[in-house]
Amino acid sequence: MSTKTVPLSAKVHEVTMFESVLARLDAAAKLMNLSSELAQILRNPQKQVKVSLPIMMDSGNIQVFEGYRTVHSTHLGPSKGGIRYALDVNTDEVRALAAWMTFKCAVANLPYGGAKGGIKCDPRAMSVGELERLSRAYAKAMKDVIGINKDIPAPDMGTGGREMAWILDEFNKITGEDNPGVITGKPIALGGSLGRDAATGRGVMVNTLEALKKMNLKPIAVTAVVQGFGNVGSHAARLLSEQGVKIVGIGDHTASFYSEKGINIAEALEYAAQNGRVLKGFKGATEIRSEELLISKCDVLVPAALQNVITEENAPKIQAKLIVEGANGPTMPEADPIIHEKGIICVPDILANSGGVTVSYFEWVQNKAGYYWTEQEVNAKHDEKMELAFDAVWNNKGKYKTSMRIAAYITALQKIEQGVKLKGAY
Ligand code: NAD
Repeated sequence: MSTKTVPLSAKVHEVTMFESVLARLDAAAKLMNLSSELAQILRNPQKQVKVSLPIMMDSGNIQVFEGYRTVHSTHLGPSKGGIRYALDVNTDEVRALAAWMTFKCAVANLPYGGAKGGIKCDPRAMSVGELERLSRAYAKAMKDVIGINKDIPAPDMGTGGREMAWILDEFNKITGEDNPGVITGKPIALGGSLGRDAATGRGVMVNTLEALKKMNLKPIAVTAVVQGFGNVGSHAARLLSEQGVKIVGIGDHTASFYSEKGINIAEALEYAAQNGRVLKGFKGATEIRSEELLISKCDVLVPAALQNVITEENAPKIQAKLIVEGANGPTMPEADPIIHEKGIICVPDILANSGGVTVSYFEWVQNKAGYYWTEQEVNAKHDEKMELAFDAVWNNKGKYKTSMRIAAYITALQKIEQGVKLKGAY
């Protein structure tokens, strides 16, 4: 997917998502003096597979779908990353998301590399039967790519536990083994982990609390705005409000709301649950225009909806002192220096939303051990890992006198560099 059109002499150049990843990689590599060989290795994904998936539609006609899987790196372990079903899935987007997973897993100190997959389709326009046939066809086509110690998929946009269950079942039929750990984000009954559903929002909460400590601010003394009220945003808003943070703004694709007095998040959750999981019509705060939400008055801003929402245009107007990126890629590279110069601390996506993959890792560990933890155990282990990851990034921020984003990339690159050196590149 293209992120911006930049005029380059007479030619128009589309800056792709993968180029945005490379821009951050290059900035970190320069600051930490990364060897040009390693930078070159990481600029090129290890494996990119594109398949055609002919599916019998309910109408009786055959339709052919494009399926993708990119393994960006396996330097620290088997590759890990979701599968998304969306119409704009393409090689560049999957490659960028796979690279992000490499850096995210390394920052969170998980024994994984990074991957991503997807199918170009509109899941909302397909029947359950069509989606099942498509998911099973994907599993068959990718049987040599995925594997419990090779490449471990998970849900992403447009997929969930249901799709993971179909892919797992198909894969197990092909291999003749029962290997639940080959995929994570499964329903609990098939070996999913307790705590996985709220894990990404929980990671956002832990990162926010850690950042507030560094800023000498108490949770009960700060206000927050959360964009997005889906999996990440709703859990983040709930968990932050449980810590005493006053949530003054919330919003989704249907409506945005603000209240200086604070929004009752339990009421908003209840309202959304009764209202097709959207906020439109919520009466617990004043409705505002959606573009006002990110620039409204607050101490903490949590973009937890979609990519490229913090831009060169709105970054100068942001009033928050702290941004915690629940979404993947909410800040465009052009907005990074504006935020940094304003003195806003930005906990970047590869750290802030790594709670989800961390609990996916716990799911894989539990599947391999065949022994399951309580939700309290999962949460305690998650919080500990997240606090350690935050500290490592914070220390590099001070050491390299840079933003948290570049410090997070440096933290990841230091680990990946060790892996490459110890294993040998060839
Ligand atoms: P979701 O589909 O559950 O929720 C998305 C939310 O964003 C919805 O409330 C939707 O209404 C809102 N939204 C969509 N378009 C919007 C717009 N134009 N303006 C305002 N709100 C809008 O998705 P999710 O799982 O919560 O994922 C959100 C982000 O977090 C994505 O970038 C995703 O890649 C990232 N992420 C998710 C996880 C996870 O575990 N779910 C893990 C890491 C990163």
